[in-house]
Amino acid sequence: MPTPEAGGLPGGRAVHFSVIDPATGEAFDEAPDQQPGELDGVVARAERAWRGWRADPAARTAALRGAADAVETAGDELARLLTREQGKPLAESYAEVARTAARLRYFADLAPRTRRIDDGRPVRSEIRWRPLGPVAAIVPWNFPLQLAAAKFAPALAAGNTMVLKPSPFTPLATRMLGSVLATALPEDVLTVVTGREPLGARLASHPGIRHVTFTGSVPTGRAVTAAAAASLARVTLELGGNDAAVLLDDVDVDRVADRLFWAAFRNCGQVCMAVKRVYVPARLHAEVVEALAQRAKTVAVGPGLNPETRLGPVNNAPQLARVEQLTKRALADGARVASGGHRLNGPGYFFAPTVLIDVPFDSPVVAEEQFGPVLPVLAYRSLDEAVEAANGTGFGLGGSVWGTDLDRAEAVADRLECGTAWINHHAELSLAQPFAGVKDSGVGVAGGPWGLYGNLRPFVVHRPQEA
Ligand code: NAD
Repeated sequence: MPTPEAGGLPGGRAVHFSVIDPATGEAFDEAPDQQPGELDGVVARAERAWRGWRADPAARTAALRGAADAVETAGDELARLLTREQGKPLAESYAEVARTAARLRYFADLAPRTRRIDDGRPVRSEIRWRPLGPVAAIVPWNFPLQLAAAKFAPALAAGNTMVLKPSPFTPLATRMLGSVLATALPEDVLTVVTGREPLGARLASHPGIRHVTFTGSVPTGRAVTAAAAASLARVTLELGGNDAAVLLDDVDVDRVADRLFWAAFRNCGQVCMAVKRVYVPARLHAEVVEALAQRAKTVAVGPGLNPETRLGPVNNAPQLARVEQLTKRALADGARVASGGHRLNGPGYFFAPTVLIDVPFDSPVVAEEQFGPVLPVLAYRSLDEAVEAANGTGFGLGGSVWGTDLDRAEAVADRLECGTAWINHHAELSLAQPFAGVKDSGVGVAGGPWGLYGNLRPFVVHRPQEA
């Protein structure tokens, strides 16, 4: 995705870039446009800090708990800044800050288990776990703080240090978070760098980085993997999704409509695990469309800082243009609008919450990740057809099945090709569970103890049982 406009010195090298408030479309602040050449010093300091940080697990636990407390103490400032640059309603920013602190606390208390292998030989094999070194984290703009925490909490708990690069669309709350964490962590254990490309590409290929953990789009994930090949650093990728919700013929529409609506439209649909396509039995199609469109027409859309707002703007101009273009293409492909379908008049990057019907299954708004407040509701004739369509994209992040007979719903969920499947819910995650997309949606496993081990390497010691 194109990055923001350069700011900086007239006629000279850009030293800052503008940060836009998506509720107004106007720049409201700026962030340092750090140059790739600065990374050598940053990574060298992260390497030096690693020596002390990896040595003392108890000190790490205490520091990470202190970091969680510090995040909570700074909660008001962090949440307001997050809403300003990201656009989401303030209540959601508070929830994101709370999840950031919760992740730190969860991983602060998680330690790898040393295991002995007894395979009958007269040796004792012991598997210990060692940190990797400086880790690079590169994250997107939809949940800047909580996705950063999903990187640094397990990486630091495992005894690594980290260089964290937020999206240039949302650098400020992450910079503030870095300053807050610095009050609790030793120097250079976590460094936030901000700047436009090629900063991320150079970070991913830096020879001092031992693990690159990336969350973002599939094309950038491929570029990051290619960049990390230079140093053969480990790569973990959490990539895009195009999650399907399959409604069964015994679904109670009234009962699930609210949950389904918010699973699609929360954060303006800018959620990797949002419901991005709904498959409905033809008999129930009109009822489901009516329930979703009625909510889309009446939900309060506005600036995230307004207390009554439930849906904010799209985060940035290129994303708004993409959502608009996919909608127009769907209409050209024969789709019809049940609600929305257009930008809202006035300043800011607002797009009316949109429900589309009669969309061909192969229209890009169905086949690609649209990542915005647009939901195609598709009628199916047979369940096999619905499951085949749900599995018929290159993505495999999440999926859900909605119905009254839970056993039957679970049997259908079992057929979905994705990392996580829900029944009568979507995108409800626990800190303790693994998070791993299949197909183009990811490489490696994050979340829970798996996330911790993803930041460690096994170290095996063999010794004879007797001298
Ligand atoms: P993006 O891929 O454009 O950017 C992600 C990050 O990569 C940003 O920090 C960006 O500056 C950086 N970047 C850009 N080019 C780079 C390069 N060549 N080398 C290294 N870094 C580079 O994604 P986005 O538009 O910021 O975010 C939206 C995408 O993120 C969606 O596809 C969404 O599904 C995905 N996402 C996935 C998850 C998940 O957990 N699977 C979570 C949230 C978002």
